[in-house]
Amino acid sequence: MKVYMLNPPYFPRFGREMRWQDTGRGGTLYYPIWLSYATGLLESLGHRVRLVDCPAWNWSVDDVLKDIEKFDPDLVVVETSFTSLKNDLEIIRRVKELEFKVAAVGPPVSQFTEEILKFADFAARYEFDFTIAELCEVMEKGRNLEGVLGISFRVDGKIFHNPERPFSTSEQLDRLPFVSEVYRKHLNVRDYFLNYSLYPMVQIFTGRGCPNSCTFCSWPQTFTGKKYRVRSIENLLDELEFIESEMEVKEVFFEDDTFTISKKRVLEFCRGYRERKLDISWSCNARVDTLDFETMREMRRANCRFLVVGFESADDGILRNIKKGFTAEEAKEFAREVKKAGLFLHADFIIGLPGETRETIEKTRRFIKEIKPEQLQVSVVTPFPGTELYDWLKERGYLVTDDPSEYLDEQGHQKSVVSYPWLSAEEIVKAVDDILRGYYLSLSYIPVALKQIFRRRGMDEARRLFRSARMFLKYSRERRLK
Ligand code: SF4
Repeated sequence: MKVYMLNPPYFPRFGREMRWQDTGRGGTLYYPIWLSYATGLLESLGHRVRLVDCPAWNWSVDDVLKDIEKFDPDLVVVETSFTSLKNDLEIIRRVKELEFKVAAVGPPVSQFTEEILKFADFAARYEFDFTIAELCEVMEKGRNLEGVLGISFRVDGKIFHNPERPFSTSEQLDRLPFVSEVYRKHLNVRDYFLNYSLYPMVQIFTGRGCPNSCTFCSWPQTFTGKKYRVRSIENLLDELEFIESEMEVKEVFFEDDTFTISKKRVLEFCRGYRERKLDISWSCNARVDTLDFETMREMRRANCRFLVVGFESADDGILRNIKKGFTAEEAKEFAREVKKAGLFLHADFIIGLPGETRETIEKTRRFIKEIKPEQLQVSVVTPFPGTELYDWLKERGYLVTDDPSEYLDEQGHQKSVVSYPWLSAEEIVKAVDDILRGYYLSLSYIPVALKQIFRRRGMDEARRLFRSARMFLKYSRERRLK
């Protein structure tokens, strides 16, 4: 069967698979990771697949429609995201005008299934790679869809919802082809950029799902579930060997929600990495309460560079409100240990969470100055449908709009759709911009930047910082002109 896997056009360099889906301020562009895993699985089952990443290639809707007609697939799989949903549905409508079958995938599909089925033929809810693979098999063999778990579909205007598909297991993850092979075959690694990773890089999963309960986080609540399922260390190390020997990349980023959940597994990975004499750098997402100093030191010895960590706020009341699971003091101590272990810190904060006031914003600003992360991300609070945070804000009337397609401004950057009687949407956005500018454009950031350059692969670090700074200054100028 011929399958067209589409990351559809929206803003250029729009990050449809990012946690906060927008056009990144620091030039960030994610791989279409989930579509790529599904591509690999379909190819391994003998299907002919074309993977198209329009935001990376700057393709217009007309470009992609022409390309679809040329490829003439049996099924078009269109990825959706919350902030681009209206746009994505319009693209599905245009593809349907050409009389192709369309399956919609992505986090909104589990939340807006019936709405999406007004446009698409099939909706693959939650994690979709195994669902799409089974859908293709059933379509190819002309069987009916009744047994395909996780799918909703429309027949003669009537909608059917099949039972949920259990989330993929660790064993299934081990059987998936390496996503890095898919990138090499279908994409150009030079199109993608993370401001904390050496360039060029690849993003892979070593596991999926997150057991934590942060109320704002859409991934476990709308897409991947709460159980962390993991690939075997052997399988993971095999992929690193492949990347190091076969691809022109300088770093691997582990895109798992929290790579550091199991200390035992992290230490096993570090040991295996050194035994195989690997050299490629890697970085990962981590949590304040999952890492001790000893593990961090082992990670550094195994060429780990950056930890990307959600601190979210420096106020304990807010941390409690969002069920973060640690205190600001614990977070500060963690940041100290990261530095002591010789790792770099990318610290994420969110402005506008429940309990935010002008005073808590100041507290967060001071906290950032104190911990001095090598990279800083501050996001505008974004309540995705299906999350506890969304329901909480909606019930209390703090949402300016509940339509996620209105969450971005005309440049594709986040705007605030949360407004409190004591803190307006405009103040939230301004606070984000002020904190970022105040941190990156101050003299005190110079030694933090220099520290990143004066170490292994210093020229690569300098190039990364320069590229990121250029994009941030462009963003900053655009915001000031508004
Ligand atoms: S730990 Fe990270 S991925 Fe897990 S729920 Fe919290 S924010 Fe989401």
